[in-house]
Amino acid sequence: MKILNSVWNEIIRTDYNLSCENGGLLGKNENGVIVKVAIDIPSYSDKYNICTYTPNIEQFNDTLAKWHKEKVIFGGIFHTHYSNKAVLSNADLSYISKILKFIPKGIKDLYFPILLLPDINFIPYKAMLNNGKVCITEDILEVIS
Ligand SMILES: [Zn+2]
Repeated sequence: MKILNSVWNEIIRTDYNLSCENGGLLGKNENGVIVKVAIDIPSYSDKYNICTYTPNIEQFNDTLAKWHKEKVIFGGIFHTHYSNKAVLSNADLSYISKILKFIPKGIKDLYFPILLLPDINFIPYKAMLNNGKVCITEDILEVIS
């Protein structure tokens, strides 16, 4: 996962709501580099008082429409975990598979990284559909300027 230094700094320097999972939308350019982030705080999870990150789809659609004008496409979604929960939860896997089934054919894979707080440990999970099955691998983070 290649990410622009400025975007990386925005992700790690955000003052997250530590009582719940937060997250955000990632946007990539035509070379697959993450060049945008839209951090989503407070998230739906706060509203429903459950500590699972649920993407705010309405807000994301507005962001994607704005990014489209700058030739930035949907690159995935990151979210925060606490207490060193480094793996994706069943709830995470459920929205990941829903999203993968709705993305345009041109997008082959998406990133669903976890940001572990408060230690700031980033696990760049990559997801793709393989014969209709969700396939998740751990990618290597590369911060570029
Ligand atoms: Zn999660």
